[in-house]
Amino acid sequence: MPFYDFECENCNKVTEEMFSIAKRPSYIPCPNCGGKAIRIISRRVATNAESRVMWSKAFGIHPDQIPEMEQRFPGDKYHPVSGAMRIKGYQHQKQIAKRLGMIID
Ligand SMILES: [Zn+2]
Repeated sequence: MPFYDFECENCNKVTEEMFSIAKRPSYIPCPNCGGKAIRIISRRVATNAESRVMWSKAFGIHPDQIPEMEQRFPGDKYHPVSGAMRIKGYQHQKQIAKRLGMIID
């Protein structure tokens, strides 16, 4: 059964509860204050969304540079027409940003 997150309108506490998809309520009573806790997009669902593949134009290159870059950085994939970079998930995006000097931490 999937998990759902409920955020309380009153105290903002987020509660995670397990329900079947058919029986998931749109709100539950907040276990903290008894207020109305509204179903929000679960962090677990958000995690799945982060593993989705996307094409990044920000990390893209000119299509002429693709063979060179794919040789320099094995594992890199670029769109053959637009030169956009194939990003698989948030961690990968962060990794590339770091490599390009866009994130310093
Ligand atoms: Zn509450």
